[in-house]
Amino acid sequence: MEIKNAWKKYNEDELNKLEELNKSYRDFLDRGKTERECVVEIVKQAENAGYRNLDGIIRGKESLKEGDKVYSVWMNKSIALFIIGKAPICEGMNILGAHIDSPRLDIKQNPLYEDTEIAYLDTHYYGGIKKYQWVTIPLAIHGVVVKTNGEVINIVLGEDDNDPVVFISDLLIHLSQEQLEKKASKVIDGEDLNVTIGSIPLKDEDKEPVKKNILKLIKEKYNFEEEDFLSAELEVVPAGRAREAGMDKSMILAYGQDDRVCAYTSFAAMLEFDKVERTACCILVDKEEIGSVGATGMRSHFFENIVAEILDRMGESSDLALRRTLANSRMLSSDVSAAFDPIYASAFEKKNAAYFGKGMVFNKFTGSRGKSGSNDANAEYVAFVRGVMEKHGVTYQTAELGKVDLGGGGTIAYILATYGMNVIDSGVAVLNMHAPWEAVSKADVYETKKGYVAFLKE
Ligand code: MN
Ligand code: MN
Repeated sequence: MEIKNAWKKYNEDELNKLEELNKSYRDFLDRGKTERECVVEIVKQAENAGYRNLDGIIRGKESLKEGDKVYSVWMNKSIALFIIGKAPICEGMNILGAHIDSPRLDIKQNPLYEDTEIAYLDTHYYGGIKKYQWVTIPLAIHGVVVKTNGEVINIVLGEDDNDPVVFISDLLIHLSQEQLEKKASKVIDGEDLNVTIGSIPLKDEDKEPVKKNILKLIKEKYNFEEEDFLSAELEVVPAGRAREAGMDKSMILAYGQDDRVCAYTSFAAMLEFDKVERTACCILVDKEEIGSVGATGMRSHFFENIVAEILDRMGESSDLALRRTLANSRMLSSDVSAAFDPIYASAFEKKNAAYFGKGMVFNKFTGSRGKSGSNDANAEYVAFVRGVMEKHGVTYQTAELGKVDLGGGGTIAYILATYGMNVIDSGVAVLNMHAPWEAVSKADVYETKKGYVAFLKE
């Protein structure tokens, strides 16, 4: 059962390919720090690779045939890409799925206030975070403000070298005797995650002069009013680029690798194909971190609707054809796994943990305390996937998320499984998951992409 460290098997040619993939992955992370930014970047790269927007094909009443490459975007936050295969689509698709939302701090609808001549933006965190990790680090603001006339203002503040960053303050150690007695979950209160945004008062202004000065700057730079925060989606994320980590440059330290490491590698695998035997599909969705809810989450019917539209363009518009296509599909539902951390070894069960450098991770099941909420793939399907990985020389490992009674987590796998299709959780091992800066092994990124390519071939 011993799995060799993948780094040991690479020759120079393979190491070059590994570095090339990891370089494009870092670029993707830098361009896509929100689900919306990820969708924009994927559409750009997909169109360069010959993918066409399904909307145009539907409007033009064109038909789809083998080798056609199409994509469909839902509300600017989720995307599905397809390569039409040679085999009848009702025999099922090979689906790669991952999510492109990540834990962060969302700015509240009425966020801007001033206290003691400092201006703040109030936030509500999104997804599971250790709140104490988000104070005193440089933060950036990404997102959109939508005006009542429909105009969309795109905002990225804090990423350019000439941009200012924002931050959340923490109490100095010298006065922290009481704070340090608190439980870690209470050290920083959710309501205290207030982003410091300014401290210059507007001259000749008595009431809230610092806030008014910020509003003046907002008007000059972005041309919106305080009321427009009401219809905004602004996300506060760690400022700065994805970096190589370790003196041997074996790792990547970056924000949002849960789950963009699986999203990017799934998409990169799609880009390697022009023709496929079974129709290939890649779905990258929003809202996983808050339960796959909402119109852009996996539980929304948007994916089923898109597949129905595709079938319609292939002359297969019956409900039965849709059901057959989905039920006969197979899926790698990818999300990050917890990488074994020797410093916190007691949280893991060593025989069933994921390790850096040991390749793509498969989780037969996830869930928490008694597999609750888990997909739990069939043994027959696990055997099929093992066979595919072994045939194509992919280094892979199997894992559970930590010790049985310690906790757990969900993914999108169980949702697609409701169609009756075979689904298994897979992905990449991550250290300090959900922290502002998460770490992965470049070898695992490389092996996982290889795994996706192998899956699409079969
Ligand atoms: Mn995830
Ligand atoms: Mn997560």
